[in-house]
Amino acid sequence: MKKFVILGSGTSGLIAATMIKKRWGDQVSVSLYYDAKKRNIAVGESTTPIVTYFLKKYLDVDITDFLKDTGSTVKLGINFKDWIPGVEYFHGFPELDFSNTHYPESLYSILIDDYDGGMNYSKATSTLPSHTFRFVHALHIDTQVFSKYLEERIENDIEIIDDIAEKVNSDGENIESIVFRNSGEVKADFYIDASGFNSILLKELNPKWNDISDYLPINRAIPQQVPHQFAEVPSYTLAEATDNGWIWRIPIGNRYGTGYLYSSRFTSDEEAREKYNQWLLENFNTKLQTDRIIEYNPGYYENHWIGNCMAVGLSSGFIEPLESTGIHIIIQQLKDFIEYNSTLNNLKYNRMECNRRCNSLYKEVVEFVCLHYNTNRTDSKFWRYMTSHKTEWVKAFDEKCREEFLEEISIENGKEFWHVDSYIQVAQGLKMFKPESIKKFLDSLPNGDEILHNCRLRYEEVKRAKTQNMNIPHRSVLNGSVVINNH
Ligand SMILES: Cc1cc2nc3c(=O)[nH]c(=O)nc-3n(C[C@H](O)[C@H](O)[C@H](O)COP(=O)(O)OP(=O)(O)OC[C@H]3O[C@@H](n4cnc5c(N)ncnc54)[C@H](O)[C@@H]3O)c2cc1C
Repeated sequence: MKKFVILGSGTSGLIAATMIKKRWGDQVSVSLYYDAKKRNIAVGESTTPIVTYFLKKYLDVDITDFLKDTGSTVKLGINFKDWIPGVEYFHGFPELDFSNTHYPESLYSILIDDYDGGMNYSKATSTLPSHTFRFVHALHIDTQVFSKYLEERIENDIEIIDDIAEKVNSDGENIESIVFRNSGEVKADFYIDASGFNSILLKELNPKWNDISDYLPINRAIPQQVPHQFAEVPSYTLAEATDNGWIWRIPIGNRYGTGYLYSSRFTSDEEAREKYNQWLLENFNTKLQTDRIIEYNPGYYENHWIGNCMAVGLSSGFIEPLESTGIHIIIQQLKDFIEYNSTLNNLKYNRMECNRRCNSLYKEVVEFVCLHYNTNRTDSKFWRYMTSHKTEWVKAFDEKCREEFLEEISIENGKEFWHVDSYIQVAQGLKMFKPESIKKFLDSLPNGDEILHNCRLRYEEVKRAKTQNMNIPHRSVLNGSVVINNH
C-alpha cells in the first residue's frame, strides 16, 4: 500500500483525495491535513464543463440532484461587458463536434454580417437549451457547500486531520517528511501540495517560477457575496471591465458571488475599495462590507510535479480567474497524474510528461486570458499599460484575425483547453475580424469556394438548431421540475 499525504483541504486537496482514492482504492492510504483556521480560500465558484465530468466519473453524481442539493446553478458561458466600453459579448461553451469541417460556420456568418455567437450558445440568458445540441455546460458552485459535499463523500475512506505543518524536511529532490504541530513527523510515499498560495511543500524542491505580471499585472481581489432574490437565474458568469480591472458576478443559490480585481501597480487598495463600494451601491444598493483583500503573484511553476511531490491548484500557480480556469486545472492535473502514474512507480518520464502537459495548459490559459485584454483601450493608466504590453502571441493572433480568419488548425496545435470556436467568440467580441479580409483570404485559397459553401451549409444547420434551442427556464431545472439530459 502506498501512502499519500495531502496538505490542504481547499478545493484542490479535496478533489485530489477524491480522485486518488477512487482510482487506487485499497492500494493507497490517504491522509489529508489542514489548518482549521483557514479551511480554504473561499473563492473559486465559476467552473468549466470538466467539473461535471469530475462529479459524474469520480462520485457518480446525478447533476440534477447535485443542483438541488448544493444550490449550484448551470453555467453556459461568460458574458463580457464593457471590455470595449459599451460592448457586450458572450463566450459560450462550444459543441466540440467539428467533424466535417476545418472552417467554422462563423466564417460565413461574419462574412455576411450575421454572426450570432458561438456554435452552441449565443448570448447571456436565463434559459437552458433543449436537447437539440449536445448539452455542454458547467456549474456555478458555492465553495463552502462544495467542500462539505466532497468531504462527506470521502471522509470514511481517508483520514482528515486538523493540524498545522510547521516544518518540511527534504533533500532538495524529494520530500522526506512533514513535521506537524500535534502529529509530529509524518512520512509518505507521495505528497500532494494543496496548501494554496504558500506552496509549502513544492517550494522546498527549488521549483522555477514563471512570472507573468508584465502582461497580466492584476494581483489583488476583493470578494463580496451579495444576497439576491433572483426573478430569473442567469445561466452565465458576468465579467465586467472597469477602468482599472474587472468585476466578476456569479449567481449561486440566493446570492451573487462578486469580486473586484485590480493591480496594485496602478490602483491603491483604498481606491479599489472606494470604486468597488460605488459599484456595489449602483448595482445592488449595498455597501462594501469586507476588509478582506486577497493578494497573489500571477504566474505558475515550470514543473508542478517534482520528485515525490505534486502541487495542485493554487500551490502550482494562478492566472487571474477571467475564464474560470482554476478548478479545471486542478482536475486536469489529477487526471494526468492518475493516467500517467497508473502503476504508482513515479517514473521520471511520466513526471516529465505531466509537467509538460500542465505547463502547456498554463501557457494556453495565459495566452487566452491575454487575448481578452486586446481591446486597444487607452482611457486609464491600467488600460494604457495593457494596450502597450501585449504578448507577441496576441499581436500575431490579432494580425491573423484582421488579415485572414481562423481555421481549425490555426488553434488546435498544442492547445487543449479551448476550441477554435472559443477563440472566434472572443476575437469577434473584440471586433478583430473584417469581412473584406475574410473575402480576400477565401479568394487566395485554392478551394475557397468549396470552403465557403461548406461553411454556409453549416451556418444554416446551426441557425436552424439554435431557433429550436434555449427555451427551458433555468429556474425550472434548478427546482427539479425539468430534468436535464446531460449525458
Ligand atoms: C480571486 C480569485 C478568484 C477565483 N475565481 C475562480 C473561479 O471563478 N473559478 C475557478 O475555477 N477558480 C477560481 N479561483 C481559483 C480557486 O479559488 C482555486 O483554484 C481553488 O479554490 C483551489 O484552492 P486551493 O485548494 O489550491 O487552495 P486553498 O483554498 O487556499 O487551500 C489551502 C489549504 O491549505 C491548508 N494549509 C495552508 N497552510 C497550511 C499549513 N501550514 N498546515 C496545514 N494546512 C495548511 C489550508 O488550511 C487550506 O485547507 C479563484 C482564485 C482567486 C484568488
